[in-house]
Amino acid sequence: MKRVLITGAGLAGSVLARALAERGVASWVIDRRPHAAGMCHSARDEETGVMVHRFGPHIFHTSHERVWEFVNRFDAVFPCISKFRAVNRHGVFSMPINLHTINQLFGKTMTPAEARAFIETKQDRSIVSPRNAEEQLLRFVGREIYEAFFEGYTTKQWGVPPCGLPASIVKRIPVRFTYDDNYYFSKYQGFPMSGYTELIRRMLDHELISVSLLTAYEHAMAAEFEHVFFSGPLDEYFAYAEGPLGYRTVNFRAERGEGDLQGVGCLNYTELSVPFTRGHEDKYFSPWERHEKSVVMYEYSREAGVEDDRFYPKRMARDMEILSRYLERAERLGNVSFIGRLGCYRYLDMDEVIRLSLEYADKWLAWREGRAASPGRFAVSPADSG
Ligand code: UDP
Repeated sequence: MKRVLITGAGLAGSVLARALAERGVASWVIDRRPHAAGMCHSARDEETGVMVHRFGPHIFHTSHERVWEFVNRFDAVFPCISKFRAVNRHGVFSMPINLHTINQLFGKTMTPAEARAFIETKQDRSIVSPRNAEEQLLRFVGREIYEAFFEGYTTKQWGVPPCGLPASIVKRIPVRFTYDDNYYFSKYQGFPMSGYTELIRRMLDHELISVSLLTAYEHAMAAEFEHVFFSGPLDEYFAYAEGPLGYRTVNFRAERGEGDLQGVGCLNYTELSVPFTRGHEDKYFSPWERHEKSVVMYEYSREAGVEDDRFYPKRMARDMEILSRYLERAERLGNVSFIGRLGCYRYLDMDEVIRLSLEYADKWLAWREGRAASPGRFAVSPADSG
């Protein structure tokens, strides 16, 4: 039986390779980068010894038992609730928006019920169904919170003011009327103690999986394989025939020093006048380690060119039009599937990527064995909102 080709040794490709290998399907996993783990790659900073998330903070969190059990097979996940703060002209605030943030911004000492009633007076009830991120925030949190925490940050992050962005982008952000400052609602949260790259290396360590790094995909390779699972950018697969899909990329600037530099894992700079969006001090992502020195990575968001690492799919109206044409092209393909954030052009959390790859492996195998209908071309529909 022929092997399958998996393009991309990131989370999506590696999970799929492992899931297939454990059901007897051999694969060749290729990646053009010099390391596995894609954008969740972590490596120690030479000067400080701190394990740094090279492509920005990756906080593993999930409520899916299957995903949690799967990840724990390859490394111990240190349970840890990550803390975020936001800084702007008004001061330093607890994030995500919670009772502490609200009381502090408005100089009050409200109870949960009082704060809820107070925020209701701030909500713009004239907006019935929000058409964009600005309307979504004005409708649910009101102008003061919108201006203090979202307007500047979102404009820097996406290169477009919130009125030009879909409401879904900020629906991820919780607002709480308690002092709970846990960013996520997930049941499990933490960091793999060996780092994401080692976790992925162990996942790929299977007799039916061979891995080649520094190896770019070429269409000519496909003929040798039963199927191609492509986790690279969808538009790149088609050589940008319909034009590039919009993405944001991030540049990092490191600052090193003794002790603690910002005092929290993630500090969001919500003023438009500060050129970076956030700083992350990665020593807080390995709380079981001790380091005398520290490193903070400052993130500068900008438009991605086709040569850049793609971080955030923009999914603006123009992108969605281009996307629909790629979807038509994809339907005409033979034995190719698209997986992961770049293959499906979706803003997905790590646990969603893992869940989708596990489920796609199930569906693809069932189809291959004649037990089920075709699993479809994509691990998750690129066209759905979200
Ligand atoms: N956001 C914001 N201010 C903040 C944090 C987030 O305006 O302090 C907005 C911003 O548009 C961002 C979105 O909320 O893109 C989602 O934030 P999240 O922290 O989930 O982004 P990620 O960690 O994926 O970069």
